[in-house]
Amino acid sequence: MTMTEAPTEFPDPYLPQQGSDDYAVTAYDLSLDYRVAGNKLRATAELTIRVIRDAKALVLDLSGFRVERATIDGRRARVTRSAHKLTLTPSSALAAGSTVQVVVDYSGAPVPRRSPWGMLGWEELSDGALVASQPSGSSTWFPCNDRPDHKSTFRIAVTTDADYRAVANGRRVSADRRGGRLVSVFEQPEPTSTYLATVQVGRYTDVEVDLDGVPGRISHPAALARRARHDLAALPRMMAVFQEWFGPYPFAAFGLVVTEDALEIPLEAQSLAIFGANHMDGQNGSERLVAHELAHQWFGNSVGLRRWSDIWLNEGFACYSEWLWFDAEGVKTVGTSARVFHRGLARQPQDLVLGDPGPASMFDDRVYKRGAVALHAVHLALGDDGFRDLLHRWTARFRFETVTTEDFLILLREAGMADVDGFERTWLRETALPPFPTAP
Ligand SMILES: [Zn+2]
Repeated sequence: MTMTEAPTEFPDPYLPQQGSDDYAVTAYDLSLDYRVAGNKLRATAELTIRVIRDAKALVLDLSGFRVERATIDGRRARVTRSAHKLTLTPSSALAAGSTVQVVVDYSGAPVPRRSPWGMLGWEELSDGALVASQPSGSSTWFPCNDRPDHKSTFRIAVTTDADYRAVANGRRVSADRRGGRLVSVFEQPEPTSTYLATVQVGRYTDVEVDLDGVPGRISHPAALARRARHDLAALPRMMAVFQEWFGPYPFAAFGLVVTEDALEIPLEAQSLAIFGANHMDGQNGSERLVAHELAHQWFGNSVGLRRWSDIWLNEGFACYSEWLWFDAEGVKTVGTSARVFHRGLARQPQDLVLGDPGPASMFDDRVYKRGAVALHAVHLALGDDGFRDLLHRWTARFRFETVTTEDFLILLREAGMADVDGFERTWLRETALPPFPTAP
């Protein structure tokens, strides 16, 4: 399996507190026992770690919890804590190039952590729990090296009370009742960034659907069945349209969870998307968001970010995918959408650099919309076939890898796009909004 090892500026200037440069986690094996009543988590995390440079200790991201025991290769490690870090010190230093097995037993009541982008991570619902980690909330539920440019495999086993159902990343490989409780095991063998790991717990009913050849599973409270069936009826067609534009769906399955609670925004996780009850209004009111989250499976999840400053590669692409979907459905051409949002951008302050918006503006709506209009400029320059070919090459070449804006510009040059330097300067590096793009 290929693991991303391209050099990255560390720490990421957008999240300087996160992660470590001393080691890479190649596999996370998490066993979680969760009781909804009282919000109690008991867990064991087993991490396969490749040591990158000689280290006296391993510093992991972990917020809160009582760490009962930690071992490195079966030997007890000394545990030191701070608010969001767990330091494990073995009796002898770890040598660069070695691989070690780290096991951490921990327990507590998981809570989200405060961030400039709101509360992140594990969150209690009125009758269950969800995880929403982007960009730095993973430490609220498991010890990790929380950085987007490191990808790992995940196996997540969740034990819940039997009337609850857990959903996590990847394929559910088993679900067994044990002593009145339900143990569900999920495997995500494809390389996954920590922020895209998730667990959802609720009184969910599962519906299996075929999504253009991809096994799909929709999990929702029974009371929302009719609305979910109606509002997600287009998913198989959406998958077909996107496989045509982007290339094959990157994972073995796609899951979609609808929580009983209302959520401010839906969110993407690896091979999963999470929506609130409010997003299923029975009138397709969130159709564009369904398209957006599905598109993230290619853009953001499979082709990941090496650094957060390139967030437009996630959000601009996911936003443009909404427009491609409405175009395919005959609702509105992609050109019309681009024109409407270009006009909207022109009315807003032009003080944002798309290619490096700064941490405070990372999730600014202008990153999404200007990113999408920039892609429309590429689409017009290359034509339909050229643009489709570009997207296929992007998702194939960087499948399960991480990328930077430079990687995208290289691809544009390979595709023969004229004046890539001009495109970069006007759309990605300067704040002024370029005029609406036209075909050559
Ligand atoms: Zn998004």
